[in-house]
Amino acid sequence: MTAKTPTQFNIRRQCPSCNRGFRITVKQLSYTVECPHCKTHISPSSEAMGIPMAIPVAPPEELATPTSDRSRHRRILKILSFLVSLAGLVVGVIYIAKDDEFDRKTGEQCLIWAAIGFGFAIALNVLWLASF
Ligand SMILES: [Zn+2]
Repeated sequence: MTAKTPTQFNIRRQCPSCNRGFRITVKQLSYTVECPHCKTHISPSSEAMGIPMAIPVAPPEELATPTSDRSRHRRILKILSFLVSLAGLVVGVIYIAKDDEFDRKTGEQCLIWAAIGFGFAIALNVLWLASF
């Protein structure tokens, strides 16, 4: 997806909701994109069409696609779930109730990690008690 093809140029766009800038590819220009900062859906605007099509290619790391952003978000939630089981339980329940398939999966994984974290905490307590 982030392969450097000659047709993949990066175009700066500004989110109308949070006013922060981010980059999209030429291909994304004609589609509705999601702001990586505030998740606002931005429809292709005439303003974007006026921007020159050929802007130097930026390294793929700079290309904040919504998917990688959400994956990072999910990873943070999973770590949190493992460390704080109760928080993981709450987050898991909230996310499982959402309509989005990705969010539901995130919730599921949070609950799993909360359970693992909880089991881990119990095991540590048993070991601690056994040491007396
Ligand atoms: Zn935004």
